Amino acid sequence: MTNPLEFLEIILSLRSHFSFSVTSWLRTPTRNTAVGGHPNSKHLTGLAVDVVLDPGQDKEAFKAEVVARMLTAVDEGDHIHIQVKKTPHDLYGNKV
Ligand SMILES: [Zn+2]
Repeated sequence: MTNPLEFLEIILSLRSHFSFSVTSWLRTPTRNTAVGGHPNSKHLTGLAVDVVLDPGQDKEAFKAEVVARMLTAVDEGDHIHIQVKKTPHDLYGNKV
């Protein structure tokens, strides 16, 4: 998937099951560097979000729902990073 709007539709679909806030979505390269983001971060193309669950939400169930929607969830401690799955294009180092 390379369309940020399709990606966001999936994120919105999670809202009917879980209560969470998006704390980061699209970043400029300047902001990405300032927050220590990976140089090829999916935040640069709008294909990643960071979310914070409300108290009482089941983090493991949330991550399972993200994976069920063919996305990747990474627990960063104070937030969960969600992005599109890496494609063979990414794995061989070509920027998308
Ligand atoms: Zn992130």
